[in-house]
Amino acid sequence: MDINDALFHLGEGTAFPDIPAAPPLYQTSNFVFNSFDDMQTCLKREDKSPFYSRGANPTVQILQQKLAALEATDEALVFGSGSAAVAAAILSQVKAGDHISCVANPYGWTKKLLSSILKDFGVTHDYVPAHDTDALLAAVKPETKVIFLESPNSWTYEMQDLERVSAFAKARGITTIIDNSCASPLNQQPAIHGIDIMVHSASKYLSGHADMVAGVLCTSSTIAMQIFQGPYMTMGGILSPFESWLMIRSLRTLEMRMDRVAENALVVGEYLENHPKVSKLYFTHAKSYPQPELRDKYLKKAGGLMTIELATTELNKVKAFCNQLERFKLGCSWGGFESLAFPAATTTGSLNYHSDETPVNRIRLYVGLENPKLLIEDLSKAFDAL
Ligand SMILES: *Cc1c(COP(=O)(O)O)cnc(C)c1O
Repeated sequence: MDINDALFHLGEGTAFPDIPAAPPLYQTSNFVFNSFDDMQTCLKREDKSPFYSRGANPTVQILQQKLAALEATDEALVFGSGSAAVAAAILSQVKAGDHISCVANPYGWTKKLLSSILKDFGVTHDYVPAHDTDALLAAVKPETKVIFLESPNSWTYEMQDLERVSAFAKARGITTIIDNSCASPLNQQPAIHGIDIMVHSASKYLSGHADMVAGVLCTSSTIAMQIFQGPYMTMGGILSPFESWLMIRSLRTLEMRMDRVAENALVVGEYLENHPKVSKLYFTHAKSYPQPELRDKYLKKAGGLMTIELATTELNKVKAFCNQLERFKLGCSWGGFESLAFPAATTTGSLNYHSDETPVNRIRLYVGLENPKLLIEDLSKAFDAL
């Protein structure tokens, strides 16, 4: 399907004779029926026919159809956060005694799900260096049920060879799941390479305006039905009709935003590469990116994330750099309109995020939609403060 059809038209016909230009918001928890038989018929396909909005809701369904088309899958389910989507995907595929082979540095809460909750329920895991597809496959045991990928990762951007992983997994009946947030479905469609379940934090590019938290899961109709009847309805971490409506609105500009982010990131990335005050640049589209073959094979364009290590190990200088930034706001998350800087050292002593392995001089930058000249000026002033 043409991407324009998915973003602008798909799923938007209505029961009314005239189709409204913007789809209606069905802000309702439940649906009422004319007869016993109508109600019973509806319940037979509660995933598709609106009965109660924890299951299906017409506004949410419009969004789901668009997202499934973007990921080239049969179905999409949307959640109240990316973390809820990740948890639903993994929980639907494992039980006590099973094992998960996972990239070493997935999103923090994915790691916590494996390391604490699932471990307590008897599901084991191995973390494998994310740049090493061989090692990821070598970690597979007879009891492995899931291979969990994040490609590229959202801090250091390691990639895995999706086609190798999916061929290996299919031959052994293992489910492959990828966190595809960092690439977005516009820049990478893992289903085409055989990956079973794609999850996204839609709080990032898909909603794109720093105004909501949401998650997406895209997969085949068989797996979608398992997840719908399992974690989706049971844990109930759904996205509201209103936020689904907002995301439909965001999708109108997804392609434009992703194009602009890619252009801006290339300009800022080039500025940072070989900058004397940057000791290391992590960016998929840097000349120094260590996995150019995988990048060229799987990614259509650059995304807005890149990570630098400043040429200092003094915390005070790192602080001075950060405090000097004006256009890059200090904050977590990414994928919105606004450029952001996340200094890893702020996590020291935090309730949830601290890792002893993170270098003190590491800062993640998200290059948003602003004029890249202004962003470079901002960085340049901050480098002067180093
Ligand atoms: C933000 C993020 C998540 C979690 O999504 P939430 O919407 O914040 O729950 C998962 N994976 C990646 C790569 C992320 O950046």
